Amino acid sequence: MHSRSEENPRQEIEEAIAAGDLNRLMMISGMLHGHFCPFSALGVKAAARTIKELGVSSTGMEEVVAIVETNNCFSDGVQIITGCSFGNNALIYRDYGKTAFTLAKRTGEGVRVSIRADRAMEERSPEAAELFEKVVIKRSGSEADKERLTKLWKELSFSVLRLPDEEVFDIKRVTVDVPTYARIFASVKCSVCGENIMEPRARVKDGKLVCIPCSGQEYYQLAGDGISTITR
Ligand SMILES: [Zn+2]
Ligand SMILES: [Zn+2]
Repeated sequence: MHSRSEENPRQEIEEAIAAGDLNRLMMISGMLHGHFCPFSALGVKAAARTIKELGVSSTGMEEVVAIVETNNCFSDGVQIITGCSFGNNALIYRDYGKTAFTLAKRTGEGVRVSIRADRAMEERSPEAAELFEKVVIKRSGSEADKERLTKLWKELSFSVLRLPDEEVFDIKRVTVDVPTYARIFASVKCSVCGENIMEPRARVKDGKLVCIPCSGQEYYQLAGDGISTITR
């Protein structure tokens, strides 16, 4: 006999969204994100809002997609609460460097949420802003500074959840071009290292199929700075 949650692994998240229980959602997002911070809180809040507006639920099969425009903390709140993740191909990353995202149905019908004036976050806690500069940007704070920042961030995160959406977000109905469903590609074997590679990523070297690392050719990398081309 299966409990309901075994059939729907996202049941707890869906129930919390329906009940407007953002605190619960924030606790859940911490499991993925590793800490509580205002921008992941905004991601959680934005995600819950768009899911309610579009009336969708996600089973991670690309029936709904999240188009994120940044890879900062905001996007982790979006991933876990929308269920559109890096691994299930329902997360689309546009390297715009904006704290914004769109949740869209396959039809292209979507809702875009962007943050109004990020500065507001610093005004809400000048002490946290100062510690952020010291601990995160300059990587120089003491253990006590880190602990204090963790505590302030947590308080700030949960207080952000209580703000009216319209005070922190611009929310717009949009129509977007949703990419096609992820294709399933054949695998080929690298003739140098012997590992399998998804076919379109195979390269040819000396007339043989090889993987990108064995080819020595350039590749794309998504890291903290966004997408860049790595040339070796
Ligand atoms: Zn964070
Ligand atoms: Zn190889």
